[in-house]
Amino acid sequence: MSSSQTNSKTTTAIDDNQAKSSTRMPEHISLNKWEDTGFEWQGAVAPVDFERLNALLTTEHEQANLHIKTKLYRHNNVLHLSFEVDGEVWLTCQRCLQPVATDLTDDYDIALLEEESQASLVDEEQDYLLLEEVVDNQTPERLLPFKKLIEDELLLKVPMAPKHDDCEMSVEQFGEIPEEEEGENPFAALSALKGKL
Ligand SMILES: [Zn+2]
Repeated sequence: MSSSQTNSKTTTAIDDNQAKSSTRMPEHISLNKWEDTGFEWQGAVAPVDFERLNALLTTEHEQANLHIKTKLYRHNNVLHLSFEVDGEVWLTCQRCLQPVATDLTDDYDIALLEEESQASLVDEEQDYLLLEEVVDNQTPERLLPFKKLIEDELLLKVPMAPKHDDCEMSVEQFGEIPEEEEGENPFAALSALKGKL
């Protein structure tokens, strides 16, 4: 134990490297500055950094960073905010009250319309918002609430009542029910696997 002081200095180099890997996600971005040239940001964000998302997270399990890659771009003269998320959050299973992981990995894309009539320029399934409803017009820069919009989409992805796919609580409660092999969803095993990659 007397050697612990000398050992401690070798571990700091690794932590340094991780801290440098990304800059903080901007809260807002200026449309005046970026709407023509486009804007890109990518980095790691701790789920607890999203205030409303944080309120849903369990404290009983460590939350790993979400890796987020964003892009503001124009398509058919319509502004879009797209982002790729890679990662999961830990919530509380509503059946057994133990931590349960929800995968947020997905590609998201929101069209940001100047006016309602532009809705005809985007695909029917395309999510869209009216810029006048989200942009802070009090400021001369027309600030887009970048982080809030991303959090909104993540919140939509989070289930209202998260549950383990095969919650042990239900097995205990209904232990007598015989297994139905035919009724089993062949994709359940696949999606369970997918969540771990
Ligand atoms: Zn459960």
